[in-house]
Amino acid sequence: MPDGDSAVLGRPGRWPSARTTVVGVIGDPVAHSLSPLLHNTAFVHLGLDWVSVGFAVPEGQAAQAMAGMRALGLHGLSVTMPHKGTVARLVDRRTPVAERLGAVNCVRRLADGQLVGENTDGAGFLAALRRGARFEVAGRRCMVAGAGGAGRAVVLALVEAGAGEVVVVNRTAGPAETVVAMAGPGARVGEPDEAPQMDLVVKATPAGMAGTPSAPLGCLVDPATLGAGQLAVDLVYDPAVTPWLEAARLAGADTLGGLGMLVHQAALQLTAWTGQEPPLEAMWAAANQQAG
Ligand code: NAP
Repeated sequence: MPDGDSAVLGRPGRWPSARTTVVGVIGDPVAHSLSPLLHNTAFVHLGLDWVSVGFAVPEGQAAQAMAGMRALGLHGLSVTMPHKGTVARLVDRRTPVAERLGAVNCVRRLADGQLVGENTDGAGFLAALRRGARFEVAGRRCMVAGAGGAGRAVVLALVEAGAGEVVVVNRTAGPAETVVAMAGPGARVGEPDEAPQMDLVVKATPAGMAGTPSAPLGCLVDPATLGAGQLAVDLVYDPAVTPWLEAARLAGADTLGGLGMLVHQAALQLTAWTGQEPPLEAMWAAANQQAG
């Protein structure tokens, strides 16, 4: 096979071979996932003979996918909707954060073949806050609107990072109470009208995401109630600026979109698999170009 200009294939100037280390992302849908792009960009930048590919795994078939990972000797998996909870039950062990969240977004294979489940969403969120907005969490009043998988990870990360308080608001009471119980005394259930008193307001619902109806109700917090001195973060990254985020900006708040969290959680996965420092600038450039 001829040498190719295979800039996305993990080993500049060479095709993958029988020695190439393979990782992947499982989810449904998965075709939209930026994970292979981010990871392959990093592999090329680091000169690693690694490649990342997407596997469309329908709901209910995570067990078969994990058996496939073991049988094929895949070195790592990035895990996205709807499999994070199921995969947490299928790995051999979990990191403490993955254990508390009951959700895994990254699987790493050890030398003895055991599979370790990690969750890099919360740490990725904190890194994005620090690098993207120079926001330090310790002692700050924070609100998280949404108590799904992403909201849970963000609430736990904020509590663990020493936030002054973390107020959780959600459309339905049950998930908000569950996330508060999981996160401990640093978190409580609150109301959206407390948002103006917060230093940080995080929207962790899909409202405004490409392909979903832009229902204002799905935002939970009215962005017009935010203002100067506050940071508004929307975890949605497609589009880069949602109507909610734009409205918060117009109201005077500082704003941050979800792309930074996506890049940083992927960078942490890369480090979990390879042990190497992630080439953040290159990963950012790839993400921005794609989100473009
Ligand atoms: P999820 O587990 O399905 O949770 C969705 C949350 O949004 C729940 O709290 C749900 O409330 C709420 N919600 C949904 N529709 C609503 C509506 N019409 N009105 C009010 N609340 C509504 O989803 P997720 O995994 O947490 O993801 C949430 C968003 O974050 C998605 O857009 C996802 O793309 C994004 N995300 C971004 C990153 C990143 O790296 N930037 C990472 C993960 C997720 P109920 O409990 O009442 O149903």
